[in-house]
Amino acid sequence: MIVSDIQDAINTQIKNEYYSSYLYLSMAAYCETKNYPGFASWLRNQSDEELDHAMRLYDYILDRDGKVILEAIDQPPSEFGTLEEMFEEVLEHEKEVSSMINNLYELALSHNDHATSVELQWFIQEQVEEEKTASDLVEQIKQADGNKAALLMLDREVNGGATETSE
Ligand code: MG
Repeated sequence: MIVSDIQDAINTQIKNEYYSSYLYLSMAAYCETKNYPGFASWLRNQSDEELDHAMRLYDYILDRDGKVILEAIDQPPSEFGTLEEMFEEVLEHEKEVSSMINNLYELALSHNDHATSVELQWFIQEQVEEEKTASDLVEQIKQADGNKAALLMLDREVNGGATETSE
C-alpha cells in the first residue's frame, strides 16, 4: 500500500503528464497551420510519449494497491509565436517537469518509500533526455536565424528522424 501523500502527488503528476501531452498536441496543430509538417509530426510523437508517461504512473499506483484519481487537465495555449519561441517553451516546460519529478522523488525519500524512488529514477533519466532533445532543437532553430530555407530543411530533417528524437 502506498501512503496517501505520495499517492496524491503521483495522481497530480498523471495530470501533469496529460497536460504535457495536450500542450504538445496543441503545438503540433500550430505547426501544421504554419506549414511545418516535420515539427508537427515530432510534436505529435512527443504528445504520445507523454501519454505513456501518464500511464506508467497510473499502472504504478494500481500495482501498489493505491487509488487512481484523475484530475482536470488545464487548457493549453493555442498560439506559440515563432518556431524559436515555441521550442524555447518546450525546453522551459521540460525543465518544469524535471523539477516536478525531483520534488516527487524527494517526497518518496522523505517517506522511505524505496519502491517509489526506484520507479521515479526512470523518470529522472527520461527528463535528462527530454531536456537534451529540446535544447538541441532550440540550438538548431537559432542557428537557422529565421532563414526560411534553413528552417524548412530542419523541418524535413526532424521529420526524417535525422535530428535525434527521445525514446
Ligand atoms: Mg513526461
